[in-house]
This record gives sequence, C-alpha cells and structure tokens, in this order.
Amino acid sequence: MLTLLATGGTIACTPGKNGLEPTLGAADLLRALGPAAPAPVRARDVFTLDSSNVQPEEWRALARAAHEALRASDGVVITHGTDTMAYTAAALSFMLAGERKPVILTGSQLPLDHPLTDARLNLLRAFAAAQAGVGGVYVCFGDRLISGVRCVKTHTTSMDAFSSVNAPLAGHFDVEGVHFDHPQAYTPPPGAEDLPLRDGIDPRVFLLKLVPGTSPDVLRFVREAGYRGLVIEAFGLGGLHYIRRNLVRALDALAKSGVRVLVVSQCLYEKADLGLYEVASGLGASLVRGGADMTTEAAVCKLMWALAQDDPDLWLSHRIIGEYR
Ligand code: ASP
Repeated sequence: MLTLLATGGTIACTPGKNGLEPTLGAADLLRALGPAAPAPVRARDVFTLDSSNVQPEEWRALARAAHEALRASDGVVITHGTDTMAYTAAALSFMLAGERKPVILTGSQLPLDHPLTDARLNLLRAFAAAQAGVGGVYVCFGDRLISGVRCVKTHTTSMDAFSSVNAPLAGHFDVEGVHFDHPQAYTPPPGAEDLPLRDGIDPRVFLLKLVPGTSPDVLRFVREAGYRGLVIEAFGLGGLHYIRRNLVRALDALAKSGVRVLVVSQCLYEKADLGLYEVASGLGASLVRGGADMTTEAAVCKLMWALAQDDPDLWLSHRIIGEYR
C-alpha cells in the first residue's frame, strides 16, 4: 500500500481567470494515470498551493501527514510545485530522518493536461521509487532521484529542472527500472532518542548573500528583528570583507548574542572552508560554523529545524542525513 499526498504546484494546475491555478487533488492525479496507476494507493490532499506559498508551517503539516500515512502504508509520494520543492525536500529530510520508509517528492514542469506534459511519467516513476522500499526523502524528477538534502532547482524551463549538488544522484531510472545508487543514510548523534518524526521548525532564520560592500548594519538588523539563525552565502571558500566594512567583527558580535550562524559558499559547487584564508579565519574560532558543501536550501532548513530541537548545537555539529561531506 502506498499513499499519495497532493499539495498543489504546476502538476495540479488547470487554466483559471488569471493564469494557471492549482486545483487538482490527489484523487484527480491518480485518476489521470488510469490503469497505469499502481494499486492500492490512498489519496489525500494536504493543501493546494503554488509552492511559492509553501512555508515552514506547510512543511510541518506535510511531515505530520507523511508520518501518519507511513503508519499504514509502505511509502509516500508527494506531489508539489517545483519552485520550492528543494526546500520542502530538505526540511522533510530532517523532520523525517528517523523514518525508515520512502518519501518521494515529485511534480512537473508542465500541467497534467498539456500535450507534452512530464506529469504522468514523473508521477509513475515516483510510485516506482516508493515501491522500491528504500528509506529516506528523495526528489524524483525526469530520470533522476536526488537526496532531499542535495537537491537544488537549477533550471526554470528545462525538463531536468533539478540537480544533485555536491553529491552523486541518489538513484536513476533506465530500461530496467529504478536504481537506488546512493540512498540517504541517517546517522543520529550519539544518545539521540530514536524518533521517526521531529517536526519542530523555527522559521526565524535569515539568508544573506554577500555582495562586495555589504554593510555590517544588515547583521545588526538580523539581531534586532528577532532572528535566531543566519545563513551567509559568503565569497568562494567562505571569505567576507573586513576592511572599511567589518563583517567579521559584526558576525562575531551577532554570534555572541546567541544567533547561530552557518557560512556556506555562494559558489553552487564544492565547499566553504573557513580555515584556509585569512579573511575567514577570524571566524573559525568563534561561534560561527562553516557549512562545508551544504546547499543553501539544506543549510537554511537544517538551521530552522535544529533551532526547534532541545539541543540545537548537538544537531548542528553533526552530519545527520548526508547534508554535507
Ligand atoms: N509555480 C509552480 C509551483 O512551484 C511551479 C511548478 O510547480 O513547476 O508551484
């Protein structure tokens, strides 16, 4: 038995007065597959939104729905808009890290009723991936399976909209079917309770992409506005300027005030390493953490999620689900 959870997105869109609107539910999507649909599948609508409107509250509702569905089924397929699917996949990867059954997100670039739609094939492949029984949270799109913590939407109009960044594909499809080559591996910190669902999430995380000349005032704003976490997309391996505008000092002060900081690279590929260059070395010894080769999506979601756990630092200092190497 599988469960299909629908949440909206292009895959659920039909033409409305002001353009495409998500209107189709899980039962409609299943019906559209006709006899090709696997059986038995339970259908449930969790929400019906363009994924630009999907936020931490929706991640939580979805994590709970998936957790509940997995008590009675062997795997869950989630249909979702592509625009923020990578964030949802990362958030669910942490929230459901202790779950040992498959959770497969999919969507489409074209609506279901478009003559060239990718909706049907993506959905059928997502079901095949769920039937394979490999635990973890994955994005299934085109012929790729991508770990939920390595997924980035890298293309707006291509059919292969998603990439696996800094990690090989979790799996792929070919004429023989589905192959899980690099499944997610859950490695909880020693002593962590064995829980299938940790759905706490704190949205008070700010993302700052540096540009040459970014003012330290931004970091003051982050503290004064009540944020509890900051992800910085720094230059290259993690550099940030300190002449004229001293970001290093401002960041140190921010971290000392209790705001957790994760530094990732604004380069899409490879890692941040705060120990290598002098312009970042002042940070290594402070409360500011390097995010290694994490994607921005995974870093933001990990920080939001860790901040809602009893011991955020325990989780932040640990590789939980392969989010970095
Ligand atoms: N705007 C849509 C969404 O993310 C795009 C898509 O699904 O491809 O909901």
